[in-house]
Amino acid sequence: MSNQLRAVRGMNDLLPVDAPLWAYFEQTIRDWLKSYGYREMRTPILEHTGLFKRAIGEVTDIVEKEMYTFVDALNGESMTLRPEGTASCVRAAIEHNLLFDGGKRLWYSGPMFRHERPQKGRYRQFHQVGVEALGFAGPDLDVEHLLMTARLWKKLGLADFIQLEINSLGGPESRASHRQKLVEYFTAHADELDADSQRRLQTNPLRILDSKNPAMQALVEAAPKLMDELDEAALGHFAAVKGGLEAAGIAYRVNPRLVRGLDYYNYTVFEWVTDKLGAQGTVCAGGRYDSLVAQLGGKPASACGFAMGVERLLVMLTEAGLAPSPDAPDIYLVNVGEAAERIAMQTAETLRDAGLSVVLHGGGGSFKSQMKKADASQASYAVLIGDDEAAANQVTLKALRGEFGKQPEQQRLALSEVIELLKTDL
Ligand code: ATP
Ligand code: MG
Repeated sequence: MSNQLRAVRGMNDLLPVDAPLWAYFEQTIRDWLKSYGYREMRTPILEHTGLFKRAIGEVTDIVEKEMYTFVDALNGESMTLRPEGTASCVRAAIEHNLLFDGGKRLWYSGPMFRHERPQKGRYRQFHQVGVEALGFAGPDLDVEHLLMTARLWKKLGLADFIQLEINSLGGPESRASHRQKLVEYFTAHADELDADSQRRLQTNPLRILDSKNPAMQALVEAAPKLMDELDEAALGHFAAVKGGLEAAGIAYRVNPRLVRGLDYYNYTVFEWVTDKLGAQGTVCAGGRYDSLVAQLGGKPASACGFAMGVERLLVMLTEAGLAPSPDAPDIYLVNVGEAAERIAMQTAETLRDAGLSVVLHGGGGSFKSQMKKADASQASYAVLIGDDEAAANQVTLKALRGEFGKQPEQQRLALSEVIELLKTDL
């Protein structure tokens, strides 16, 4: 079978068995974005190479070694499969004058292409959902993006497994003076730098801080901190972002080494990270890029945004047992004993009146055997009625899908309380 045709390495087929999870994710995303007033954009997958060079930066990993770039044989132009979405989104906003009457909240989704070493959670064609707020300068938009991502993790059931890291890169002046200090510091320690970092010392010294080489960690740890160079405006902006997070009760960690791999960021940068995916721990990343619109030829406009890696989130959902099965009902209704059997049918109807899907267990049997059926049905919840529940005019609600080994919860409630709870949860 040596000449069997195969997909390109690092580019995945999406088979019917995978489709329901993607559909569930995409629907969740649409509802969530609508609830914040973001509107969809779709841009071509292919762009002129110059766009990414100008937007992302000539000496970033993406532009230096990860882009699928080729010369169009018909006209000799250099073309690139998009490695990310922000550049195209900003290009299109400028081209179509979208900001003529003020800021715009936009989103996009689709495949991105980077020539990386494929491994779990890292592919050559992968998918992002990205959000951009163009034309907004205030820290309130940075906070909005952090609040909305936090809400999405909650909606997906992943909130307990994803943590927020933030940093501020300051404005161009703080970055310039920090850059100078970094060059002095790393030049003085030039013999301790690995080959990659020696090269970066000339081109992009900030990126040395992002080095994953363990031998470099002590050196990097002691390097001059960008935070110490921030001016009052940058510090004020950062304080407002942190204040917004605290007011909303969202936990975060300031990581002074968070620099991001794209050149266009300034002020706030952030990453949502997990320890559930090994080395590929960042599921969502973004920040502010106030100079990009002007840099790409538009009228100056502040902006911020973020992108999440869809495959990484789907792996998390699957491993946490949170991936819904397409035909799975919301509820499997377990009923044991004569009193329970008498009210089970009406209980199921009441739940269906509230818009929930219910499989009513028929044919009797013990709690244990009925619970086995409930598990096999892949329902999100079991509603249990036994003699006690029937007498008390209550039911027992039991969550069936565990989260990374967490024990499922169980509680006794009135049927109306169950409906209230599940309507917000499902
Ligand atoms: P990493 O440090 O993992 O390479 P990055 O900084 O290059 O990430 P961004 O350009 O910020 O990533 O992209 C946003 C998100 O897209 C990442 O946080 C990640 O979830 C996802 N992502 C990036 N590259 C890949 C890839 N090759 N395969 C799958 N997902 C990816
Ligand atoms: Mg990368």
